[in-house]
Amino acid sequence: MVNSTKNDDKTTKLVWLQREFRLSALPTLQAALESPGLVIVVYFHDPKYVIGEANSLWMAHSLKQLQADIKEKGGFLWIVSGDFETQFESLLTKYTIQEVLYSFQVGYPFNSLQDKALEICKKHKVALQPNYSEFLIEPENIHNQQNKPYLVFTPFYKALLAKQTLIMPLQEELEGLERCGQLQPVDQAWLELPLDLQDLMKKPWAKKMMAYWQVGEQAAWQKLNEFIENGVVDYDTDRDFPILNATSGLSPYLHFGEINPRAIYFYLQSLMADGALKAEHAMPWIRQLVWKEFARHLLVHFPQTESEPFQTKYKTMSWQEDLNSYQAWQKGLTGIPIIDAGMRELWETGTMHNRVRMLVASFLTKNLNQHWLQGKAWFDNTLFDADPANNVMGWQWVAGCGVDASPYYRLFNPVTQSIKFDSNGDYIRQWLPELKNLSSKAIHAPWENQNECQLKGVVLGSDYPLPLVDLKQSRSTHLERVAAMKVAV
Ligand SMILES: Cc1cc2nc3c(=O)[nH]c(=O)nc-3n(C[C@H](O)[C@H](O)[C@H](O)COP(=O)(O)OP(=O)(O)OC[C@H]3O[C@@H](n4cnc5c(N)ncnc54)[C@H](O)[C@@H]3O)c2cc1C
Repeated sequence: MVNSTKNDDKTTKLVWLQREFRLSALPTLQAALESPGLVIVVYFHDPKYVIGEANSLWMAHSLKQLQADIKEKGGFLWIVSGDFETQFESLLTKYTIQEVLYSFQVGYPFNSLQDKALEICKKHKVALQPNYSEFLIEPENIHNQQNKPYLVFTPFYKALLAKQTLIMPLQEELEGLERCGQLQPVDQAWLELPLDLQDLMKKPWAKKMMAYWQVGEQAAWQKLNEFIENGVVDYDTDRDFPILNATSGLSPYLHFGEINPRAIYFYLQSLMADGALKAEHAMPWIRQLVWKEFARHLLVHFPQTESEPFQTKYKTMSWQEDLNSYQAWQKGLTGIPIIDAGMRELWETGTMHNRVRMLVASFLTKNLNQHWLQGKAWFDNTLFDADPANNVMGWQWVAGCGVDASPYYRLFNPVTQSIKFDSNGDYIRQWLPELKNLSSKAIHAPWENQNECQLKGVVLGSDYPLPLVDLKQSRSTHLERVAAMKVAV
């Protein structure tokens, strides 16, 4: 064990993790372990740079798990808490770091941290080495015939499939992890989870939410295998029905890099080659995974879209500011059952089914006419998988202001969607116990079935709210606003 903070052979490498919380298929760590010298694996925890509370909670569990996993292999994960710039610079100088290896990440807060790291490395003449392992294909390697980024998903997907040879495999098992345990940190607290994250994990809401999940690399692979065994066959037909649990549930694991999209891609390819998985079953799911890739590429090319609409004409759109209706939406008290079920699922479990995400986003932006950034902010704070690229693409798509967006005149009617995708009302019953006795006919629109509500003892306006807005009227208002925006442009 080397106790000194000075490393005389001057070949210490820093593997800086941002959200690649795994010990396999990680080329930054692999490169550091394959070259001579000492290796530090570090995560910088600066509470100024967080996405949201639920996201931080998952991160806390994920880091704890990774610390345990690496310790079992004889290594250390340092978690350095405090101001990022100060701590990053101080580590570079104290340990005479020669090279920093990191996996490039897109969007806030990662872009800010990467910019700061670059400045500091330049100042100290330390090499800073990005790796694109979190992408299937590097963004610069995929573009349309005009050499421009793709703005529509299907051509992007086809181009990616045509360039499959550019998807590079990652080495699964990494050797020599004990080499990350040769240096002792100056502060022993770096071998523990920071206190603010420990406190977060103890909160009653946090414990309740985590009860739905297992976190970490091993759990991610287990979830993938269960999905391949039980779910992928019916994914294409069932994935839009929230009660069926027919999707993989992998998004938080993917967000935190506990599992890597390229590792998944090659794993599925090998199962297909062995005949254990049919392409007709695997491909619809791979296509969905490529949506994530598309979102990341878009944010690399158009970083301003994190806070601005891709379609600039939407800058002139007049949004409403109404705290009461925003809060009713947040709490799942809008009086529209499918919307409220989704919002309460989110609050309880840290996730929400994709179809319902689209419905609640459409309701907020188009029926309540509230800014998509308001919706994005709430998702950032409450989703475990809150992701700078996916969240912004999802919200802009629904609001109609993104690339390849849902057209302005397309407002999901939450009642017809509810009848279509939750015909028995079982998803609604799961999250709105106050409506559990209503029939599958009445449950989608209780206000239109007041007799039954009375018979079943559901007092509208007291047990369950009356609708916040008239769906027909609010649809017309939205279309008027869009028309006004078009004139203004
Ligand atoms: C308004 C809105 C906001 C969203 N915000 C996020 C977010 O912050 N983070 C996030 O990961 N996803 C977001 N999504 C996309 C999608 O809802 C989730 O990725 C999906 O529900 C995750 O469930 P799953 O892992 O079971 O997905 P599966 O159906 O099993 O799909 C596999 C993986 O593909 C990716 N994927 C699937 N659908 C999409 C999609 N539409 N866009 C991008 N990637 C996709 C995800 O990584 C997912 O884990 C949002 C969608 C909408 C409409």
